[in-house]
Amino acid sequence: MAIMTLTYAKTTFLTSVPNHRLAPEDRGAEVAFAGRSNAGKSSALNTITNQKSLARTSKTPGRTQQLNFFAMDDDHRLVDLPGYGFAKVPQKMKLQWQANMSEYLQKRQSLRGLLMMMDCRRPLTEYDIKMLQWCHAANLRTHILLTKADKLSRGPAKSALLDTEKKLAGFHPDATIQLFSSLKKTGVEEARQVINDWLTEGSGY
Ligand code: GDP
Repeated sequence: MAIMTLTYAKTTFLTSVPNHRLAPEDRGAEVAFAGRSNAGKSSALNTITNQKSLARTSKTPGRTQQLNFFAMDDDHRLVDLPGYGFAKVPQKMKLQWQANMSEYLQKRQSLRGLLMMMDCRRPLTEYDIKMLQWCHAANLRTHILLTKADKLSRGPAKSALLDTEKKLAGFHPDATIQLFSSLKKTGVEEARQVINDWLTEGSGY
């Protein structure tokens, strides 16, 4: 069995769409990135793909509420989902987000798993929990990056990891979790390994 290598550094912006019905054709395999605004999602996407400003596209005005698709090659994609948790967002937009997200998570055939970013100092906010429950209900594999791990020293970082892992059991018992820092580049290989496994699983390689 040949090992398939995905080339992260070749990832390029594909398209931005307001909802999954306008997404690129539902074929091949993709992994989605989700997280509360400011959790470090764009930084993680840039770090994992080893690019300086790939995810900046997702931050341009008008695109923050969109699903942003990036192509690693013809068959493999990374998807940056809209950041959530802005207190000031009108209720109508929150409901729209919920409808969009739950539909994408449930219906997207090529979606192999969700990578979720949570600040290691403030994990499991209300919408994080909602997201985890949807993923669990949709039988979708989920891997959590506890971001900005450099902000905590080793002991507290380890405690945050163990504590969050324990609490996860109540929302998505199968989810996995790790510490991650874009600043220090820690946990990058571990995260890439998860993405690799999901994207290449069952593809015949
Ligand atoms: P997003 O809104 O989830 O896409 O978050 P960003 O990636 O834009 O990051 C939000 C803020 O956190 C920015 O000021 C980043 O510089 C900072 N940040 C992101 N990752 C790290 C990290 O690993 N360590 C530290 N110390 N700061 C980070």
